[in-house]
Amino acid sequence: MSSATTNAPIPFIDLKAQRARLGSAVDEAVLRVVNHGAYVMGPEIVELEKALADFSGVADCVSCGSGTDALMLYLMAKGIGPGDAVFVPSFTFVATAEIVALLGAQPFFVDVEADSFNMDPASLEASVEQSKILGLKPVGVIPVDLFGQPADYPVLDGIASTHGMWVLADAAQSYGAQLGNTRVGAFGEATATSFFPAKPLGCYGDGGAVLTDNKELGELMRSFRVHGQGGDGDLRYTHPRIGMNARMDTMQAAILLEKLKIFPSELEARQTAADRYAAGLGDIVDVPKLGPGRTSAWAQYTLRLAGGSGVRDAIQAACKERGVPTAVYYPIPLHKQEAYGRYPIAPDGLPVSEALSTSVVSLPMHPYLEEAQQERVIEAVRIGLKA
Ligand SMILES: *Cc1c(COP(=O)(O)O)cnc(C)c1O
Repeated sequence: MSSATTNAPIPFIDLKAQRARLGSAVDEAVLRVVNHGAYVMGPEIVELEKALADFSGVADCVSCGSGTDALMLYLMAKGIGPGDAVFVPSFTFVATAEIVALLGAQPFFVDVEADSFNMDPASLEASVEQSKILGLKPVGVIPVDLFGQPADYPVLDGIASTHGMWVLADAAQSYGAQLGNTRVGAFGEATATSFFPAKPLGCYGDGGAVLTDNKELGELMRSFRVHGQGGDGDLRYTHPRIGMNARMDTMQAAILLEKLKIFPSELEARQTAADRYAAGLGDIVDVPKLGPGRTSAWAQYTLRLAGGSGVRDAIQAACKERGVPTAVYYPIPLHKQEAYGRYPIAPDGLPVSEALSTSVVSLPMHPYLEEAQQERVIEAVRIGLKA
């Protein structure tokens, strides 16, 4: 009998199973870098940028040190600053708002839709009007593809262009997902993604990338990536702008090139796992639903619970007893965080973000989940729901 039939703990994300599947390919890729010695901006960086741009169907890709760097590089290229409002969901990982605040602009918190967890277009419209009343200049929108499903880009792009704003997609959780025939990476003026190990496409450390069809923008972000280098002189010591060190390590690029080869089949396996959860839980709880024409990268499989945090506590306790890990993304919406409480919010408040923070729970999700393991998860959740 496999361990799945016992009560052995189920990993929330199983990177060891992936490691076993990759076998020596990844070891050899790492050793190649160790031996050729171009540890910073080596040939694998160029190769990876081309591979990611091709995978997403866009003209350019700028690799960088993390998903946070990716968001930052774009905002630096846009030159945002004090007086500018950038619209972000409140129900997201902190990095989406953090980089706006770091550049001295105002993250403006917008509510999300309960069924998709993504930015609510009506709340965005109202927030744009509110920002003008507050004397701010609405400059851009950062929709987040939360838990792996693309935001409603056709509608959000429309609102943004009506008001002369750019759109930066935060696809840290959705790399590989599609809206119609278009992959994430091709929405908005640019798309930021993350290769943190727990993301759908992860490296063995920190990494990120910005994707765009605008090659000039790509070049500008390359300059910001390395201390604002540029101009005519010795590139290393000529700095027309103030930048950062936001490079990806060559070794991470080499690892990602190997992982990208198995990524399409991993996306299919995640969909299979999501289908099994929906079949086992859809009759008693709100399971995630994909909008028309959408696929998800299933960074998380997140349930919405009626009855609030008491029900959630019961489910988490029942799961824990049975060796099933759970997680809450995110327990505190950003506008309720101490560091972000002073930034503006949608005029009608953020009731959905607040409700979700008390009523969501995420289950183990990765491409190597076995059916028997999922049956244990499903049973534990069902027991918790009845408690
Ligand atoms: C993970 C994540 C980020 C940041 O990525 P890092 O690589 O950890 O810097 C940004 N936005 C969202 C929505 C994320 O989930």
